[in-house]
Amino acid sequence: MKITQVSGVVYRQQFKPGGPTPKFAGEGRNTFETLLVKVETDEGIVGWGEAFPHRVWPAVKSLLESLIAPVCIGADASDIPALMKRLIYHVHGVGRAGPVMYALSGLDIALWDILGKSKSLPIYQLLGGKPCAKLPAYASLLKYNDTDIVVRTCKEALDRGYSELKIHETGRAEITAAAQVLRRHNGGSLMVDVNAPWTPSEALSAVAPLRELGLKWIEEPVWPPEDFEAARQISLAGVPVAIGENVLTPSDFARLIDSRSVDYVQPSVTKIGGISIARDIIAAANAANVAVAPHSAYFGPGLIATAHLAAAFGRAPMVERLYCDLTESPFGDWYEPVDGHLAVPQGPGLGIDPDPAILEKLRVA
Ligand SMILES: [Mg+2]
Repeated sequence: MKITQVSGVVYRQQFKPGGPTPKFAGEGRNTFETLLVKVETDEGIVGWGEAFPHRVWPAVKSLLESLIAPVCIGADASDIPALMKRLIYHVHGVGRAGPVMYALSGLDIALWDILGKSKSLPIYQLLGGKPCAKLPAYASLLKYNDTDIVVRTCKEALDRGYSELKIHETGRAEITAAAQVLRRHNGGSLMVDVNAPWTPSEALSAVAPLRELGLKWIEEPVWPPEDFEAARQISLAGVPVAIGENVLTPSDFARLIDSRSVDYVQPSVTKIGGISIARDIIAAANAANVAVAPHSAYFGPGLIATAHLAAAFGRAPMVERLYCDLTESPFGDWYEPVDGHLAVPQGPGLGIDPDPAILEKLRVA
């Protein structure tokens, strides 16, 4: 089965009106873009992947179509290791991480979709997983920087059946208020994602008063994110630490896992190199007894691929589900959890294809 075309399709997802406006990288936004990678074959099977898009989708789409696609044309779609090895070497002078790897991540996911479709198996079973109907998901709230909105949104997520919540707040007032909401709600876990704002000494001061809140983890407490030793110091100070969405090469993940610096590692399937590399990282973490909490702050094939990875590895924990309501999605409403659980798609490949009419309606590039 030969690849005949590789292209990027970008669509703009909208939040339902009426909700609070969240901040993305400091900017209030009610829309965000998703970058799909579409791979076509001479047998008529089409695969879909997702490349990490936030703020860089024009660059990622350009790299996909100008640098990566020409190498793919005519290649055997079913030999994923051979093609990915060739491509990673082909692009290594441009970078081993960042936009070029985001593009390859989307391609790899699309190739797994094709492989599953050609073998009539869902990806999680191709990966060796046993039958699995549903997975626990946690609500990953967006950033509001407003205690009232954080409290209201936490309550709403709990009412919808989630038992574990993550907030993206750095303020002590917001974090403490969210912890109180969970405490009043018969427990449940709170995670706090601060997105790497602090020097090591600032981070130690900031987390000291959080110790008594019993957080499940604090995410990316230290700048720079690759300072694993500083992350270890925060964990030793009594608050479990999660990092990994900005650990962008397999060798850095190996170093992170081997060093046992943090309590959770967080590979992001749309950034690190797709299902193939995320699978290897999860397997290595499991072998080393380091917990995995995949990063999946997206809604398309990247989130679906994360669900397949979590279903394939019994020890992979909850799936991150960004907590926001979308007007409509080309991938339907499968991402709406029921009682805090996401259904694992059971169809071949990813198990869900985009609806062409909705995709065309939302498409921006
Ligand atoms: Mg994060």
